[in-house]
Amino acid sequence: MRTRIRVQTRGRESLEDITPQVREVVRRSGLAHGLCHLFVPHTTAGIIINENADPAVCRDILERLAALVPHNGRYHHLEGNADAHIKSSLVGQGAWVPVEGADLALGRWQGIFLAEFDGPRERTVIVTLMPIPGGAP
Ligand code: ZN
Repeated sequence: MRTRIRVQTRGRESLEDITPQVREVVRRSGLAHGLCHLFVPHTTAGIIINENADPAVCRDILERLAALVPHNGRYHHLEGNADAHIKSSLVGQGAWVPVEGADLALGRWQGIFLAEFDGPRERTVIVTLMPIPGGAP
């Protein structure tokens, strides 16, 4: 089963917690045990799984990525978003989450974030759910 989630991002760089939307997709699907794959079809965004309890963690991630790959650095790509392409490559465009008991098997402090590096704009996350061959473990 495959569906798409639309996410309106809030800033040029932001981490948008999409855990509730992904949970809802899993819940509605009726999948009890399997895998949930998330993919962003964008070159200047990504997917991160990390702490969603303390917002300071997201702030630290964005600040450190900005320090590593500055917006106004010297780049060959002249659209003004070369840093966003690099940050997207660093964090990656996809993630897998196990589905157990009809829910995401995330750790207590984990959340799923769409990582925006060239917003604000509307983004798409493709969610693919797959049963485990052979059924539940
Ligand atoms: Zn570009």
